[in-house]
Amino acid sequence: MPMMFGPPWINVYLLPCPGGWMLIDTGMSSEESYSTLSLALAETGVAPEHLRHIVLTHMHPDHCGLALQLRDISGAEVWMHRADADLLTQLKTTDRTRDQLETAMREAGTPPAMRNAVLESHARVSHLFPALSLDHFLEDGLALESWVGPLEVVWTPGHSPGHCCLYARDARLLFSSDHVIEDITPHVGWMPGEDMLGLYLQSLDRLEPFDVERILPAHGLPFTGLSGWIAQTRNFHARRLEEIDGHLKDGARTADDLVRRLWPRDLRPLDYQLAVTEVLAYLEHARRKSRIPE
Ligand SMILES: [Zn+2]
Ligand SMILES: [Zn+2]
Repeated sequence: MPMMFGPPWINVYLLPCPGGWMLIDTGMSSEESYSTLSLALAETGVAPEHLRHIVLTHMHPDHCGLALQLRDISGAEVWMHRADADLLTQLKTTDRTRDQLETAMREAGTPPAMRNAVLESHARVSHLFPALSLDHFLEDGLALESWVGPLEVVWTPGHSPGHCCLYARDARLLFSSDHVIEDITPHVGWMPGEDMLGLYLQSLDRLEPFDVERILPAHGLPFTGLSGWIAQTRNFHARRLEEIDGHLKDGARTADDLVRRLWPRDLRPLDYQLAVTEVLAYLEHARRKSRIPE
């Protein structure tokens, strides 16, 4: 499915389930996205009305953008973890997310022009999120019936607070969404006062013992080798923490200083937002490990 920014495409997955079909994630809310999905469903011989369950791995707009439209057409039941559902409601009904972002950028030392550009881009992107009320909440340990056997919900907070993977134990498949992606280091989310990197790393620990033959991510191609990928990703974050520590010892004073040193080029507002929030997540993690002062 096409994307408007970020990775070149998003994968959504269609599986037979009792009474019809299950769709894992929906793609973005756009005409192009909707027609791509309609065509793909038609090629598979599935009418949108045959969708019974729409399972949303998390609240990002590439994953849940079309959920409302698809539910209206199909009457399918929509699932998401409560933590992300709450965040989505907050984003659609209050200014809290925007205000938190603004406060964070002030504390991060973001120059006013970039702060305004990020807030403008945030307002534009907010329209891509659906005002969605959920039919069911995904809960860790819950199993959804499907053609490849029960899909076990594995709550994997980190990329977002309510991110979930789905594990088909019988088929040894892991629908890993944005938690495990082959060629991209998944973005670590940011929530004020939360150790999102710590949560992300713990979520990797949880997946490690799973017997997985094939990883089916939301971006990029399916791949194999879960434990190798996990080891590599742990290393990446450990090195990044050391790098940040080095810059702090070398005179970086604010999160904005760190962004400039870690990404020494001009960043577009959305990329700056991702960069600065990720730096804040690293700093929160390092603070809890008492590696750096307040
Ligand atoms: Zn995401
Ligand atoms: Zn995504």
